[in-house]
Amino acid sequence: MAEYQFLPRQELQRLFDKLCAAGFQCIGPQVQEGAIVYGPLDAVTALPRGLHDRQAPGSYRLEQDDDERCFAWANGPQALKPLTFAPRESMWQAQQGPSGINFTSAAPQHQPTAVIGVRACDLAALRIHDQHFLNNDPHYAARRERMFLVAVNCTHPAATCFCASTGDGPEAQSGFDLVLDELDDGYIVRSGTPAGGIILRELFLEPAADAQRAVAQRQNAAAAAQQTRQLPGRNLRDTLFANLEHARWDDVAARCLSCGNCTSVCPTCFCHSERDEPALDGQSSTHYRQWDSCFTEGHSYIHGIVIRAETKFRYRQWLTHKLGSWHEQFGRSGCVGCGRCISWCPAAIDITEEAGAICGQ
Ligand code: SF4
Ligand code: SF4
Repeated sequence: MAEYQFLPRQELQRLFDKLCAAGFQCIGPQVQEGAIVYGPLDAVTALPRGLHDRQAPGSYRLEQDDDERCFAWANGPQALKPLTFAPRESMWQAQQGPSGINFTSAAPQHQPTAVIGVRACDLAALRIHDQHFLNNDPHYAARRERMFLVAVNCTHPAATCFCASTGDGPEAQSGFDLVLDELDDGYIVRSGTPAGGIILRELFLEPAADAQRAVAQRQNAAAAAQQTRQLPGRNLRDTLFANLEHARWDDVAARCLSCGNCTSVCPTCFCHSERDEPALDGQSSTHYRQWDSCFTEGHSYIHGIVIRAETKFRYRQWLTHKLGSWHEQFGRSGCVGCGRCISWCPAAIDITEEAGAICGQ
Protein backbone atom coordinates (compact mmCIF):
# COMPACT_ATOMS: atom_id res chain seq x y z
CA MET A 1 0.00 0.00 0.00
CA ALA A 2 1.32 3.45 -0.93
CA GLU A 3 2.25 5.67 2.03
CA TYR A 4 0.12 8.57 0.77
CA GLN A 5 -3.46 7.78 -0.27
CA PHE A 6 -6.18 10.02 -1.66
CA LEU A 7 -9.69 10.26 -0.22
CA PRO A 8 -12.07 12.19 -2.53
CA ARG A 9 -14.04 14.93 -0.74
CA GLN A 10 -17.40 13.26 -1.40
CA GLU A 11 -16.11 10.11 0.36
CA LEU A 12 -15.03 11.73 3.64
CA GLN A 13 -18.08 10.23 5.34
CA ARG A 14 -16.55 6.79 4.78
CA LEU A 15 -13.74 7.67 7.20
CA PHE A 16 -16.27 8.63 9.90
CA ASP A 17 -18.28 5.45 9.23
CA LYS A 18 -15.16 3.31 9.44
CA LEU A 19 -14.17 4.85 12.78
CA CYS A 20 -17.70 4.39 14.16
CA ALA A 21 -17.71 0.77 12.97
CA ALA A 22 -14.38 0.25 14.77
CA GLY A 23 -16.10 1.26 18.03
CA PHE A 24 -15.03 4.89 18.34
CA GLN A 25 -17.25 7.79 19.21
CA CYS A 26 -16.29 10.43 16.65
CA ILE A 27 -15.47 13.88 18.00
CA GLY A 28 -15.03 16.63 15.44
CA PRO A 29 -15.02 20.37 14.87
CA GLN A 30 -18.37 22.09 14.69
CA VAL A 31 -19.80 25.54 15.33
CA GLN A 32 -21.30 26.29 18.72
CA GLU A 33 -22.06 29.80 19.95
CA GLY A 34 -20.03 31.45 17.23
CA ALA A 35 -16.84 29.42 17.68
CA ILE A 36 -15.42 26.17 16.32
CA VAL A 37 -15.30 23.59 19.11
CA TYR A 38 -14.97 19.82 19.37
CA GLY A 39 -18.08 17.75 20.01
CA PRO A 40 -19.67 14.42 19.09
CA LEU A 41 -20.04 14.31 15.33
CA ASP A 42 -20.80 11.40 13.05
CA ALA A 43 -21.81 13.16 9.82
CA VAL A 44 -19.55 15.29 7.65
CA THR A 45 -22.47 17.65 7.08
CA ALA A 46 -21.88 19.06 10.59
CA LEU A 47 -18.27 20.04 9.82
CA PRO A 48 -17.54 23.79 9.52
CA ARG A 49 -17.58 23.77 5.70
CA GLY A 50 -16.57 27.09 4.15
CA LEU A 51 -15.86 28.73 7.51
CA HIS A 52 -12.76 30.78 8.25
CA ASP A 53 -11.71 32.26 11.59
CA ARG A 54 -10.46 35.84 11.83
CA GLN A 55 -8.40 36.18 14.98
CA ALA A 56 -6.58 39.14 16.49
CA PRO A 57 -5.64 40.13 20.06
CA GLY A 58 -8.91 40.00 22.01
CA SER A 59 -10.93 39.02 18.95
CA TYR A 60 -12.30 35.83 17.31
CA ARG A 61 -14.86 35.89 14.49
CA LEU A 62 -16.11 33.31 12.00
CA GLU A 63 -16.74 34.20 8.37
CA GLN A 64 -18.55 32.05 5.83
CA ASP A 65 -17.79 31.81 2.13
CA ASP A 66 -18.57 29.26 -0.58
CA ASP A 67 -15.28 27.35 -0.08
CA GLU A 68 -15.93 23.60 0.04
CA ARG A 69 -13.12 22.99 2.51
CA CYS A 70 -14.08 21.85 6.02
CA PHE A 71 -10.79 22.59 7.83
CA ALA A 72 -9.90 26.05 6.45
CA TRP A 73 -9.60 27.64 9.86
CA ALA A 74 -6.87 27.74 12.52
CA ASN A 75 -8.34 26.79 15.88
CA GLY A 76 -11.12 27.48 18.35
CA PRO A 77 -11.01 28.11 22.09
CA GLN A 78 -10.65 24.40 22.84
CA ALA A 79 -7.70 22.19 22.24
CA LEU A 80 -7.68 18.49 23.15
CA LYS A 81 -7.35 19.43 26.82
CA PRO A 82 -11.02 19.08 27.87
CA LEU A 83 -11.15 15.66 26.20
CA THR A 84 -8.23 14.22 28.17
CA PHE A 85 -8.05 16.36 31.34
CA ALA A 86 -11.68 16.95 32.30
CA PRO A 87 -12.59 20.45 33.54
CA ARG A 88 -14.21 18.82 36.60
CA GLU A 89 -14.47 15.21 37.68
CA SER A 90 -14.88 13.18 40.82
CA MET A 91 -11.81 11.31 42.02
CA TRP A 92 -13.26 9.37 44.95
CA GLN A 93 -16.17 9.11 47.34
CA ALA A 94 -16.21 8.67 51.11
CA GLN A 95 -19.21 6.89 52.64
CA GLN A 96 -20.02 6.54 56.31
CA GLY A 97 -20.50 2.82 57.06
CA PRO A 98 -21.35 0.88 60.23
CA SER A 99 -17.68 0.26 60.98
CA GLY A 100 -16.16 3.51 59.75
CA ILE A 101 -15.65 5.47 56.56
CA ASN A 102 -15.29 3.60 53.27
CA PHE A 103 -13.42 5.20 50.41
CA THR A 104 -14.28 4.29 46.80
CA SER A 105 -12.23 5.58 43.91
CA ALA A 106 -14.16 6.75 40.85
CA ALA A 107 -13.26 4.05 38.33
CA PRO A 108 -12.22 5.58 35.01
CA GLN A 109 -14.58 4.24 32.33
CA HIS A 110 -14.28 6.08 29.10
CA GLN A 111 -15.55 5.25 25.64
CA PRO A 112 -12.95 5.01 22.85
CA THR A 113 -12.97 8.29 20.96
CA ALA A 114 -11.67 9.32 17.56
CA VAL A 115 -10.88 13.02 17.36
CA ILE A 116 -10.94 14.42 13.83
CA GLY A 117 -9.28 17.71 12.86
CA VAL A 118 -6.48 17.84 15.45
CA ARG A 119 -3.86 20.54 14.86
CA ALA A 120 -0.10 20.09 15.09
CA CYS A 121 0.16 22.57 17.99
CA ASP A 122 -2.39 20.55 19.94
CA LEU A 123 -0.50 17.32 19.32
CA ALA A 124 2.58 19.05 20.77
CA ALA A 125 0.56 20.11 23.83
CA LEU A 126 -0.72 16.56 24.20
CA ARG A 127 2.87 15.25 24.30
CA ILE A 128 3.55 17.57 27.25
CA HIS A 129 0.39 16.45 29.05
CA ASP A 130 1.36 12.83 28.42
CA GLN A 131 4.65 13.52 30.21
CA HIS A 132 2.80 15.06 33.12
CA PHE A 133 -0.27 12.83 33.49
CA LEU A 134 0.10 9.50 31.75
CA ASN A 135 1.89 7.59 34.50
CA ASN A 136 0.22 9.36 37.41
CA ASP A 137 -3.43 9.83 36.55
CA PRO A 138 -5.60 6.78 35.70
CA HIS A 139 -8.43 9.03 34.48
CA TYR A 140 -6.19 10.79 31.95
CA ALA A 141 -4.55 7.49 30.98
CA ALA A 142 -7.92 5.77 30.41
CA ARG A 143 -9.06 8.53 28.04
CA ARG A 144 -5.72 8.90 26.33
CA GLU A 145 -5.19 5.21 25.68
CA ARG A 146 -8.60 4.93 24.01
CA MET A 147 -8.09 7.97 21.81
CA PHE A 148 -7.58 7.77 18.03
CA LEU A 149 -6.23 11.00 16.57
CA VAL A 150 -6.91 12.21 13.04
CA ALA A 151 -4.75 15.29 12.48
CA VAL A 152 -5.43 17.77 9.68
CA ASN A 153 -2.51 19.96 8.63
CA CYS A 154 -3.30 23.62 9.15
CA THR A 155 -3.47 25.60 5.91
CA HIS A 156 -5.11 28.76 7.31
CA PRO A 157 -3.17 29.90 10.39
CA ALA A 158 -4.71 32.84 12.21
CA ALA A 159 -2.92 36.15 12.62
CA THR A 160 -2.36 35.16 16.27
CA CYS A 161 -0.62 31.84 15.47
CA PHE A 162 3.13 31.36 15.93
CA CYS A 163 3.58 27.57 16.02
CA ALA A 164 6.22 27.77 13.27
CA SER A 165 8.48 29.76 15.61
CA THR A 166 8.06 27.30 18.49
CA GLY A 167 8.74 24.36 16.15
CA ASP A 168 5.32 22.76 16.77
CA GLY A 169 3.48 23.34 13.48
CA PRO A 170 1.71 24.05 11.25
CA GLU A 171 2.43 20.61 9.74
CA ALA A 172 1.91 17.62 12.06
CA GLN A 173 5.07 15.53 12.28
CA SER A 174 4.12 12.83 14.78
CA GLY A 175 1.64 11.86 17.47
CA PHE A 176 -1.29 11.12 15.13
CA ASP A 177 -2.91 7.89 13.99
CA LEU A 178 -3.87 9.42 10.65
CA VAL A 179 -2.95 12.78 9.15
CA LEU A 180 -4.85 14.54 6.38
CA ASP A 181 -3.86 17.28 3.96
CA GLU A 182 -7.01 18.99 2.75
CA LEU A 183 -7.02 19.84 -0.97
CA ASP A 184 -9.82 21.42 -3.00
CA ASP A 185 -11.16 18.05 -4.13
CA GLY A 186 -10.29 15.77 -1.21
CA TYR A 187 -7.69 14.63 1.27
CA ILE A 188 -4.23 13.10 1.16
CA VAL A 189 -4.20 10.56 3.98
CA ARG A 190 -1.21 8.97 5.71
CA SER A 191 -1.03 6.75 8.79
CA GLY A 192 1.27 7.36 11.75
CA THR A 193 0.55 4.23 13.81
CA PRO A 194 -0.42 0.59 13.20
CA ALA A 195 -3.97 1.45 14.34
CA GLY A 196 -4.09 4.21 11.74
CA GLY A 197 -2.74 1.81 9.13
CA ILE A 198 -5.62 -0.63 9.75
CA ILE A 199 -8.26 2.07 9.24
CA LEU A 200 -6.46 3.38 6.16
CA ARG A 201 -6.21 -0.08 4.57
CA GLU A 202 -9.93 -0.66 5.12
CA LEU A 203 -10.77 2.51 3.18
CA PHE A 204 -9.36 0.94 -0.04
CA LEU A 205 -8.09 4.24 -1.46
CA GLU A 206 -5.99 5.01 -4.51
CA PRO A 207 -2.43 6.32 -4.05
CA ALA A 208 -2.13 10.12 -4.00
CA ALA A 209 -0.67 11.57 -7.22
CA ASP A 210 2.68 13.37 -7.14
CA ALA A 211 0.93 16.58 -8.22
CA GLN A 212 -1.47 16.31 -5.26
CA ARG A 213 1.42 15.83 -2.83
CA ALA A 214 3.17 18.84 -4.33
CA VAL A 215 0.07 20.98 -3.69
CA ALA A 216 0.00 19.79 -0.05
CA GLN A 217 3.69 20.62 0.40
CA ARG A 218 3.15 24.10 -1.01
CA GLN A 219 0.16 24.64 1.30
CA ASN A 220 2.17 23.62 4.36
CA ALA A 221 5.10 25.85 3.44
CA ALA A 222 2.76 28.79 2.78
CA ALA A 223 1.01 28.29 6.13
CA ALA A 224 4.36 28.50 7.95
CA ALA A 225 5.50 31.54 5.93
CA GLN A 226 2.23 33.35 6.66
CA GLN A 227 2.88 33.52 10.41
CA THR A 228 4.28 36.85 11.55
CA ARG A 229 4.33 36.55 15.33
CA GLN A 230 7.12 34.86 17.23
CA LEU A 231 8.60 34.55 20.69
CA PRO A 232 12.08 36.05 21.20
CA GLY A 233 13.60 32.56 21.49
CA ARG A 234 12.71 28.97 22.32
CA ASN A 235 14.38 28.95 25.75
CA LEU A 236 13.79 32.21 27.64
CA ARG A 237 14.50 30.79 31.07
CA ASP A 238 17.65 32.70 31.92
CA THR A 239 16.49 35.97 30.36
CA LEU A 240 13.14 35.93 32.15
CA PHE A 241 14.61 35.10 35.55
CA ALA A 242 17.21 37.84 35.09
CA ASN A 243 14.34 40.31 34.56
CA LEU A 244 12.04 39.61 37.51
CA GLU A 245 12.01 43.34 38.38
CA HIS A 246 11.46 44.57 34.82
CA ALA A 247 9.06 47.56 34.59
CA ARG A 248 6.95 45.68 32.02
CA TRP A 249 5.46 43.48 34.77
CA ASP A 250 3.75 46.61 36.19
CA ASP A 251 2.72 47.67 32.72
CA VAL A 252 1.03 44.37 31.87
CA ALA A 253 -0.53 44.17 35.35
CA ALA A 254 -2.27 47.51 34.71
CA ARG A 255 -4.01 45.90 31.70
CA CYS A 256 -4.52 42.33 32.92
CA LEU A 257 -7.91 41.54 34.52
CA SER A 258 -6.59 38.39 36.22
CA CYS A 259 -9.56 36.59 34.64
CA GLY A 260 -7.72 33.35 33.85
CA ASN A 261 -9.08 33.07 30.27
CA CYS A 262 -5.54 32.58 28.99
CA THR A 263 -4.97 29.56 31.22
CA SER A 264 -8.37 28.03 30.39
CA VAL A 265 -7.79 28.10 26.64
CA CYS A 266 -4.09 27.21 26.83
CA PRO A 267 -3.64 23.58 25.71
CA THR A 268 -0.70 23.03 28.06
CA CYS A 269 -1.86 24.68 31.33
CA PHE A 270 -2.80 21.96 33.79
CA CYS A 271 -3.20 23.64 37.20
CA HIS A 272 -6.13 22.32 39.16
CA SER A 273 -7.65 22.49 42.62
CA GLU A 274 -9.29 19.76 44.67
CA ARG A 275 -12.29 19.99 46.97
CA ASP A 276 -14.63 17.75 48.94
CA GLU A 277 -18.36 18.22 48.61
CA PRO A 278 -20.30 16.58 51.46
CA ALA A 279 -23.85 15.34 50.89
CA LEU A 280 -26.59 17.13 52.85
CA ASP A 281 -27.31 14.04 54.98
CA GLY A 282 -23.73 14.07 56.27
CA GLN A 283 -23.24 10.41 55.32
CA SER A 284 -21.04 10.78 52.27
CA SER A 285 -18.71 13.12 50.50
CA THR A 286 -17.34 13.36 46.95
CA HIS A 287 -13.83 14.54 46.18
CA TYR A 288 -13.59 16.60 42.98
CA ARG A 289 -10.70 17.83 40.87
CA GLN A 290 -11.35 20.89 38.72
CA TRP A 291 -9.33 23.24 36.57
CA ASP A 292 -7.75 26.14 38.38
CA SER A 293 -5.60 29.04 37.22
CA CYS A 294 -2.50 30.73 38.56
CA PHE A 295 -4.48 33.95 38.07
CA THR A 296 -6.93 33.15 40.89
CA GLU A 297 -6.40 34.38 44.43
CA GLY A 298 -6.95 30.94 45.90
CA HIS A 299 -4.28 29.31 43.77
CA SER A 300 -1.46 30.83 45.84
CA TYR A 301 -3.19 30.63 49.22
CA ILE A 302 -0.97 28.89 51.76
CA HIS A 303 -1.52 28.84 55.54
CA GLY A 304 -3.58 32.01 55.70
CA ILE A 305 -1.51 33.98 53.19
CA VAL A 306 -2.11 34.67 49.50
CA ILE A 307 1.44 34.51 48.11
CA ARG A 308 0.57 36.28 44.83
CA ALA A 309 -2.00 38.83 45.92
CA GLU A 310 -1.24 41.26 43.08
CA THR A 311 -1.91 40.69 39.38
CA LYS A 312 1.70 41.62 38.60
CA PHE A 313 2.95 38.55 40.46
CA ARG A 314 0.31 36.26 38.94
CA TYR A 315 1.16 37.28 35.37
CA ARG A 316 4.87 36.99 36.18
CA GLN A 317 4.32 33.52 37.63
CA TRP A 318 2.43 32.44 34.49
CA LEU A 319 4.97 33.75 32.01
CA THR A 320 8.14 32.74 33.87
CA HIS A 321 6.74 29.25 34.44
CA LYS A 322 5.33 28.78 30.94
CA LEU A 323 8.36 30.10 29.05
CA GLY A 324 11.06 29.59 31.70
CA SER A 325 10.92 26.89 34.33
CA TRP A 326 8.98 24.46 32.10
CA HIS A 327 12.36 23.75 30.53
CA GLU A 328 13.47 22.19 33.82
CA GLN A 329 10.23 20.24 34.23
CA PHE A 330 9.57 19.08 30.67
CA GLY A 331 12.71 19.81 28.66
CA ARG A 332 10.93 22.43 26.56
CA SER A 333 8.85 25.59 26.76
CA GLY A 334 5.20 25.29 27.82
CA CYS A 335 4.09 27.28 24.79
CA VAL A 336 3.23 25.53 21.51
CA GLY A 337 2.39 28.76 19.67
CA CYS A 338 -1.36 28.20 19.23
CA GLY A 339 -2.14 31.87 19.91
CA ARG A 340 -5.33 31.12 21.86
CA CYS A 341 -4.28 33.16 24.90
CA ILE A 342 -3.93 36.19 22.58
CA SER A 343 -7.32 35.88 20.88
CA TRP A 344 -9.29 35.02 24.01
CA CYS A 345 -7.74 37.63 26.31
CA PRO A 346 -10.40 40.30 26.95
CA ALA A 347 -7.61 42.84 27.44
CA ALA A 348 -5.90 41.86 24.13
CA ILE A 349 -2.65 41.03 25.91
CA ASP A 350 -0.24 39.32 23.52
CA ILE A 351 2.25 36.84 25.01
CA THR A 352 4.70 37.43 22.14
CA GLU A 353 4.71 41.19 22.77
CA GLU A 354 5.09 40.84 26.54
CA ALA A 355 7.88 38.28 26.25
CA GLY A 356 9.57 40.46 23.61
CA ALA A 357 9.40 43.53 25.83
CA ILE A 358 10.71 41.74 28.92
CA CYS A 359 13.45 39.93 27.02
CA GLY A 360 14.58 43.18 25.36
CA GLN A 361 13.33 42.66 21.81
S1 SF4 B 1 -3.59 37.96 30.41
FE1 SF4 B 1 -5.66 38.37 29.58
S2 SF4 B 1 -6.71 36.38 29.65
FE2 SF4 B 1 -4.90 36.22 30.99
S3 SF4 B 1 -5.66 36.75 33.04
FE3 SF4 B 1 -4.89 38.67 32.13
S4 SF4 B 1 -6.70 39.60 31.16
FE4 SF4 B 1 -7.24 37.45 31.57
S1 SF4 C 1 0.79 30.22 26.11
FE1 SF4 C 1 -0.77 30.97 24.64
S2 SF4 C 1 0.11 30.63 22.60
FE2 SF4 C 1 1.31 29.41 24.05
S3 SF4 C 1 0.35 27.39 24.05
FE3 SF4 C 1 -0.64 28.53 25.72
S4 SF4 C 1 -2.44 29.50 24.77
FE4 SF4 C 1 -1.11 28.79 23.09
